[in-house]
Amino acid sequence: MGKLDNKVALVTGGSRGIGKAIALLLAKEGAKVGLNYNRSADEANAVADQVKALGSEALVVQGDVGDAASARSLVKQVLDHFGTLDILVNNAGITRDMFFKKLTDEAWHEVIRTNLDSVYYVTSAAVPAMLAKNYGRIISISSFVGQKGNLAQTNYAATKAALIGFSKSLALELARNNITVNTINPGFMGTEMVLSIKEEVQQKLLTQVPIGRFGTPEEVAEAVLFLAADSSGSYITGQQINVNGGIYM
Ligand code: NAP
Repeated sequence: MGKLDNKVALVTGGSRGIGKAIALLLAKEGAKVGLNYNRSADEANAVADQVKALGSEALVVQGDVGDAASARSLVKQVLDHFGTLDILVNNAGITRDMFFKKLTDEAWHEVIRTNLDSVYYVTSAAVPAMLAKNYGRIISISSFVGQKGNLAQTNYAATKAALIGFSKSLALELARNNITVNTINPGFMGTEMVLSIKEEVQQKLLTQVPIGRFGTPEEVAEAVLFLAADSSGSYITGQQINVNGGIYM
Protein backbone atom coordinates (compact mmCIF):
# COMPACT_ATOMS: atom_id res chain seq x y z
CA MET A 1 0.00 0.00 0.00
CA GLY A 2 1.40 3.39 -1.02
CA LYS A 3 0.37 6.74 0.41
CA LEU A 4 -0.81 7.86 -3.05
CA ASP A 5 -2.47 4.74 -4.46
CA ASN A 6 -5.11 5.59 -7.09
CA LYS A 7 -3.93 9.18 -7.33
CA VAL A 8 -2.83 10.95 -10.51
CA ALA A 9 -0.12 13.62 -10.33
CA LEU A 10 1.27 16.11 -12.83
CA VAL A 11 4.80 17.38 -12.29
CA THR A 12 5.95 20.25 -14.50
CA GLY A 13 9.66 20.17 -15.29
CA GLY A 14 9.87 16.53 -14.28
CA SER A 15 12.82 15.68 -16.50
CA ARG A 16 15.64 16.74 -14.19
CA GLY A 17 16.60 17.93 -10.73
CA ILE A 18 13.89 18.51 -8.13
CA GLY A 19 11.01 17.66 -10.49
CA LYS A 20 12.55 14.29 -11.28
CA ALA A 21 12.93 13.45 -7.57
CA ILE A 22 9.32 14.50 -6.94
CA ALA A 23 7.98 12.39 -9.81
CA LEU A 24 9.88 9.32 -8.62
CA LEU A 25 8.79 9.63 -4.99
CA LEU A 26 5.13 10.18 -5.90
CA ALA A 27 5.32 7.15 -8.21
CA LYS A 28 6.98 5.06 -5.48
CA GLU A 29 3.98 5.87 -3.28
CA GLY A 30 1.58 4.65 -5.96
CA ALA A 31 0.67 7.76 -7.97
CA LYS A 32 0.43 7.67 -11.74
CA VAL A 33 2.50 10.54 -13.06
CA GLY A 34 2.19 13.03 -15.90
CA LEU A 35 5.77 14.07 -16.57
CA ASN A 36 6.20 17.38 -18.31
CA TYR A 37 9.45 18.57 -19.86
CA ASN A 38 10.38 21.27 -22.33
CA ARG A 39 13.75 20.40 -23.90
CA SER A 40 15.18 17.32 -22.19
CA ALA A 41 13.30 14.53 -23.98
CA ASP A 42 15.86 11.81 -23.28
CA GLU A 43 15.98 12.65 -19.58
CA ALA A 44 12.16 12.75 -19.35
CA ASN A 45 11.86 9.36 -21.04
CA ALA A 46 14.47 7.94 -18.66
CA VAL A 47 12.44 9.21 -15.68
CA ALA A 48 9.33 7.58 -17.18
CA ASP A 49 11.22 4.29 -17.41
CA GLN A 50 12.15 4.62 -13.73
CA VAL A 51 8.50 5.31 -12.84
CA LYS A 52 7.47 2.16 -14.68
CA ALA A 53 10.21 0.17 -12.91
CA LEU A 54 8.62 1.30 -9.65
CA GLY A 55 5.39 -0.36 -10.78
CA SER A 56 3.49 2.81 -11.68
CA GLU A 57 2.47 4.55 -14.90
CA ALA A 58 3.94 7.64 -16.55
CA LEU A 59 2.82 9.87 -19.38
CA VAL A 60 5.59 12.04 -20.81
CA VAL A 61 4.25 15.36 -22.09
CA GLN A 62 6.40 17.89 -23.91
CA GLY A 63 5.33 21.48 -23.44
CA ASP A 64 6.61 24.94 -22.63
CA VAL A 65 4.72 25.91 -19.48
CA GLY A 66 5.36 29.59 -20.19
CA ASP A 67 3.23 29.40 -23.31
CA ALA A 68 -0.51 29.53 -22.56
CA ALA A 69 -1.64 27.13 -25.28
CA SER A 70 1.13 24.65 -24.60
CA ALA A 71 0.57 24.72 -20.81
CA ARG A 72 -3.17 24.19 -21.18
CA SER A 73 -2.64 21.45 -23.70
CA LEU A 74 -0.32 19.50 -21.43
CA VAL A 75 -2.91 19.49 -18.64
CA LYS A 76 -5.54 18.34 -21.13
CA GLN A 77 -3.29 15.50 -22.32
CA VAL A 78 -2.88 14.26 -18.75
CA LEU A 79 -6.63 14.50 -18.12
CA ASP A 80 -7.44 12.72 -21.40
CA HIS A 81 -4.95 9.94 -20.67
CA PHE A 82 -5.57 9.27 -16.96
CA GLY A 83 -9.14 10.59 -16.74
CA THR A 84 -8.46 12.72 -13.67
CA LEU A 85 -5.90 14.84 -11.83
CA ASP A 86 -5.42 14.85 -8.06
CA ILE A 87 -2.00 16.38 -7.45
CA LEU A 88 -0.45 19.27 -9.37
CA VAL A 89 3.17 20.13 -8.70
CA ASN A 90 4.22 23.42 -10.31
CA ASN A 91 7.95 22.82 -10.37
CA ALA A 92 9.34 24.04 -13.71
CA GLY A 93 11.51 27.09 -13.30
CA ILE A 94 14.59 28.90 -14.57
CA THR A 95 17.07 31.53 -13.49
CA ARG A 96 18.57 34.32 -15.59
CA ASP A 97 20.68 35.99 -12.93
CA MET A 98 21.85 39.57 -13.53
CA PHE A 99 22.47 42.51 -11.28
CA PHE A 100 19.61 44.96 -11.64
CA LYS A 101 21.80 47.60 -13.30
CA LYS A 102 22.41 45.13 -16.14
CA LEU A 103 19.06 43.34 -16.20
CA THR A 104 17.60 43.13 -19.69
CA ASP A 105 13.94 43.13 -20.67
CA GLU A 106 14.52 39.71 -22.17
CA ALA A 107 15.87 38.19 -18.93
CA TRP A 108 13.04 39.79 -16.96
CA HIS A 109 10.27 38.49 -19.22
CA GLU A 110 11.78 35.06 -19.73
CA VAL A 111 11.83 34.40 -15.99
CA ILE A 112 8.38 35.90 -15.40
CA ARG A 113 6.76 33.82 -18.14
CA THR A 114 8.50 30.56 -17.20
CA ASN A 115 8.21 30.75 -13.41
CA LEU A 116 5.01 32.73 -12.89
CA ASP A 117 2.76 32.94 -15.97
CA SER A 118 3.22 29.17 -16.20
CA VAL A 119 1.73 28.57 -12.77
CA TYR A 120 -1.36 30.58 -13.70
CA TYR A 121 -1.79 28.73 -17.01
CA VAL A 122 -1.25 25.21 -15.65
CA THR A 123 -3.20 25.71 -12.43
CA SER A 124 -6.17 27.34 -14.14
CA ALA A 125 -6.33 24.41 -16.55
CA ALA A 126 -6.19 21.89 -13.69
CA VAL A 127 -8.61 23.44 -11.20
CA PRO A 128 -11.88 22.67 -13.05
CA ALA A 129 -11.09 18.93 -12.92
CA MET A 130 -10.28 19.20 -9.21
CA LEU A 131 -13.47 21.15 -8.51
CA ALA A 132 -15.49 18.51 -10.34
CA LYS A 133 -14.20 15.79 -8.00
CA ASN A 134 -14.05 17.98 -4.89
CA TYR A 135 -10.43 17.01 -4.33
CA GLY A 136 -7.03 18.45 -5.11
CA ARG A 137 -3.49 19.15 -3.97
CA ILE A 138 -1.70 22.08 -5.61
CA ILE A 139 1.93 22.43 -4.61
CA SER A 140 4.19 25.07 -6.13
CA ILE A 141 7.95 25.12 -5.77
CA SER A 142 8.86 28.63 -4.72
CA SER A 143 12.24 29.49 -3.14
CA PHE A 144 13.79 31.07 -0.07
CA VAL A 145 14.80 33.80 -2.51
CA GLY A 146 11.16 34.88 -2.71
CA GLN A 147 11.14 35.35 1.06
CA LYS A 148 14.59 36.79 1.70
CA GLY A 149 15.76 38.31 -1.60
CA ASN A 150 19.11 37.55 -3.23
CA LEU A 151 21.77 39.40 -5.16
CA ALA A 152 21.33 39.40 -8.95
CA GLN A 153 17.93 37.75 -8.72
CA THR A 154 15.32 40.54 -8.79
CA ASN A 155 13.54 38.77 -11.65
CA TYR A 156 13.64 35.35 -10.00
CA ALA A 157 12.74 36.69 -6.53
CA ALA A 158 9.75 38.54 -7.98
CA THR A 159 8.35 35.29 -9.39
CA LYS A 160 9.01 33.22 -6.29
CA ALA A 161 7.44 35.78 -3.94
CA ALA A 162 4.47 35.95 -6.30
CA LEU A 163 3.92 32.20 -6.02
CA ILE A 164 3.51 32.55 -2.26
CA GLY A 165 0.83 35.26 -2.59
CA PHE A 166 -0.85 33.39 -5.42
CA SER A 167 -1.01 30.19 -3.40
CA LYS A 168 -2.40 31.83 -0.24
CA SER A 169 -5.12 33.58 -2.24
CA LEU A 170 -6.06 30.47 -4.18
CA ALA A 171 -6.04 28.44 -0.95
CA LEU A 172 -8.76 30.73 0.41
CA GLU A 173 -10.88 30.31 -2.71
CA LEU A 174 -10.60 26.53 -2.87
CA ALA A 175 -10.57 25.48 0.78
CA ARG A 176 -14.26 24.54 0.85
CA ASN A 177 -13.73 22.31 -2.17
CA ASN A 178 -11.22 20.06 -0.43
CA ILE A 179 -8.40 21.48 -2.56
CA THR A 180 -5.28 22.51 -0.68
CA VAL A 181 -2.77 24.99 -2.10
CA ASN A 182 0.70 25.36 -0.65
CA THR A 183 4.27 26.24 -1.54
CA ILE A 184 7.57 24.61 -0.74
CA ASN A 185 10.47 26.99 -0.47
CA PRO A 186 13.80 25.22 -1.01
CA GLY A 187 17.16 26.71 -0.12
CA PHE A 188 20.18 25.98 -2.32
CA MET A 189 19.73 22.45 -3.64
CA GLY A 190 22.34 20.39 -5.46
CA THR A 191 20.81 20.44 -8.93
CA GLU A 192 22.09 21.82 -12.23
CA MET A 193 20.56 25.20 -11.29
CA VAL A 194 23.11 25.53 -8.47
CA LEU A 195 25.88 23.14 -9.52
CA SER A 196 26.33 25.05 -12.80
CA ILE A 197 27.39 28.14 -10.81
CA LYS A 198 31.19 28.72 -10.64
CA GLU A 199 32.81 26.55 -7.95
CA GLU A 200 34.17 29.56 -6.01
CA VAL A 201 30.71 31.16 -5.94
CA GLN A 202 29.21 27.86 -4.77
CA GLN A 203 31.64 27.87 -1.85
CA LYS A 204 30.54 31.42 -0.96
CA LEU A 205 26.89 30.37 -1.11
CA LEU A 206 27.61 27.47 1.22
CA THR A 207 28.89 29.83 3.89
CA GLN A 208 25.35 31.24 4.11
CA VAL A 209 23.81 27.84 4.87
CA PRO A 210 23.73 27.00 8.60
CA ILE A 211 23.55 23.25 7.93
CA GLY A 212 26.70 23.64 5.80
CA ARG A 213 25.73 21.74 2.64
CA PHE A 214 23.39 22.05 -0.30
CA GLY A 215 20.11 20.20 0.05
CA THR A 216 19.11 17.27 -2.13
CA PRO A 217 16.18 17.08 -4.57
CA GLU A 218 14.93 14.11 -2.55
CA GLU A 219 14.59 16.31 0.54
CA VAL A 220 12.22 18.60 -1.38
CA ALA A 221 10.33 15.59 -2.73
CA GLU A 222 9.65 14.35 0.81
CA ALA A 223 7.99 17.69 1.63
CA VAL A 224 5.84 17.40 -1.50
CA LEU A 225 4.75 13.92 -0.44
CA PHE A 226 3.91 15.23 3.03
CA LEU A 227 1.56 17.84 1.54
CA ALA A 228 0.12 15.46 -1.06
CA ALA A 229 -0.65 12.48 1.17
CA ASP A 230 -4.04 12.48 2.88
CA SER A 231 -2.56 11.07 6.09
CA SER A 232 -0.38 14.16 6.56
CA GLY A 233 -1.53 16.97 4.26
CA SER A 234 -5.30 17.17 4.27
CA TYR A 235 -5.57 19.98 6.88
CA ILE A 236 -2.66 22.06 5.60
CA THR A 237 -3.49 24.87 3.18
CA GLY A 238 -2.13 28.32 2.40
CA GLN A 239 1.16 27.35 4.01
CA GLN A 240 4.83 27.33 3.14
CA ILE A 241 7.28 24.58 4.00
CA ASN A 242 10.87 25.80 4.07
CA VAL A 243 13.35 23.08 3.10
CA ASN A 244 16.36 25.32 3.26
CA GLY A 245 19.08 24.18 5.67
CA GLY A 246 18.35 27.23 7.82
CA ILE A 247 19.34 29.86 5.24
CA TYR A 248 16.13 31.75 5.99
CA MET A 249 14.30 31.38 9.32
P1 NAP B 1 16.75 22.32 -13.02
O1 NAP B 1 17.59 21.20 -12.55
O2 NAP B 1 17.36 23.40 -13.84
O3 NAP B 1 15.47 21.70 -13.79
C1 NAP B 1 14.51 22.57 -14.28
C2 NAP B 1 13.36 21.78 -14.82
O4 NAP B 1 12.37 22.71 -15.31
C3 NAP B 1 13.73 20.88 -15.96
O5 NAP B 1 13.00 19.68 -15.87
C4 NAP B 1 13.31 21.68 -17.18
O6 NAP B 1 12.93 20.87 -18.26
C5 NAP B 1 12.08 22.38 -16.65
N1 NAP B 1 11.74 23.57 -17.42
C6 NAP B 1 12.45 24.69 -17.57
N2 NAP B 1 11.80 25.55 -18.36
C7 NAP B 1 10.64 24.94 -18.73
C8 NAP B 1 9.55 25.30 -19.54
N3 NAP B 1 9.51 26.49 -20.17
N4 NAP B 1 8.52 24.42 -19.68
C9 NAP B 1 8.55 23.22 -19.07
N5 NAP B 1 9.56 22.81 -18.29
C10 NAP B 1 10.60 23.66 -18.13
O7 NAP B 1 16.07 23.09 -11.78
P2 NAP B 1 15.79 22.59 -10.29
O8 NAP B 1 16.91 23.03 -9.46
O9 NAP B 1 15.36 21.19 -10.29
O10 NAP B 1 14.55 23.54 -9.94
C11 NAP B 1 13.21 23.10 -9.92
C12 NAP B 1 12.37 24.15 -9.24
O11 NAP B 1 12.85 24.38 -7.92
C13 NAP B 1 12.41 25.52 -9.96
O12 NAP B 1 11.15 26.13 -9.91
C14 NAP B 1 13.41 26.29 -9.13
O13 NAP B 1 13.20 27.68 -9.22
C15 NAP B 1 13.10 25.76 -7.75
N6 NAP B 1 14.17 25.94 -6.79
C16 NAP B 1 15.41 25.39 -7.03
C17 NAP B 1 16.41 25.61 -6.09
C18 NAP B 1 17.80 25.05 -6.27
O14 NAP B 1 18.68 25.42 -5.49
N7 NAP B 1 18.04 24.17 -7.21
C19 NAP B 1 16.18 26.38 -4.95
C20 NAP B 1 14.91 26.90 -4.75
C21 NAP B 1 13.92 26.69 -5.67
P3 NAP B 1 13.80 20.79 -19.63
O15 NAP B 1 15.19 20.44 -19.26
O16 NAP B 1 13.10 19.73 -20.39
O17 NAP B 1 13.71 22.13 -20.28
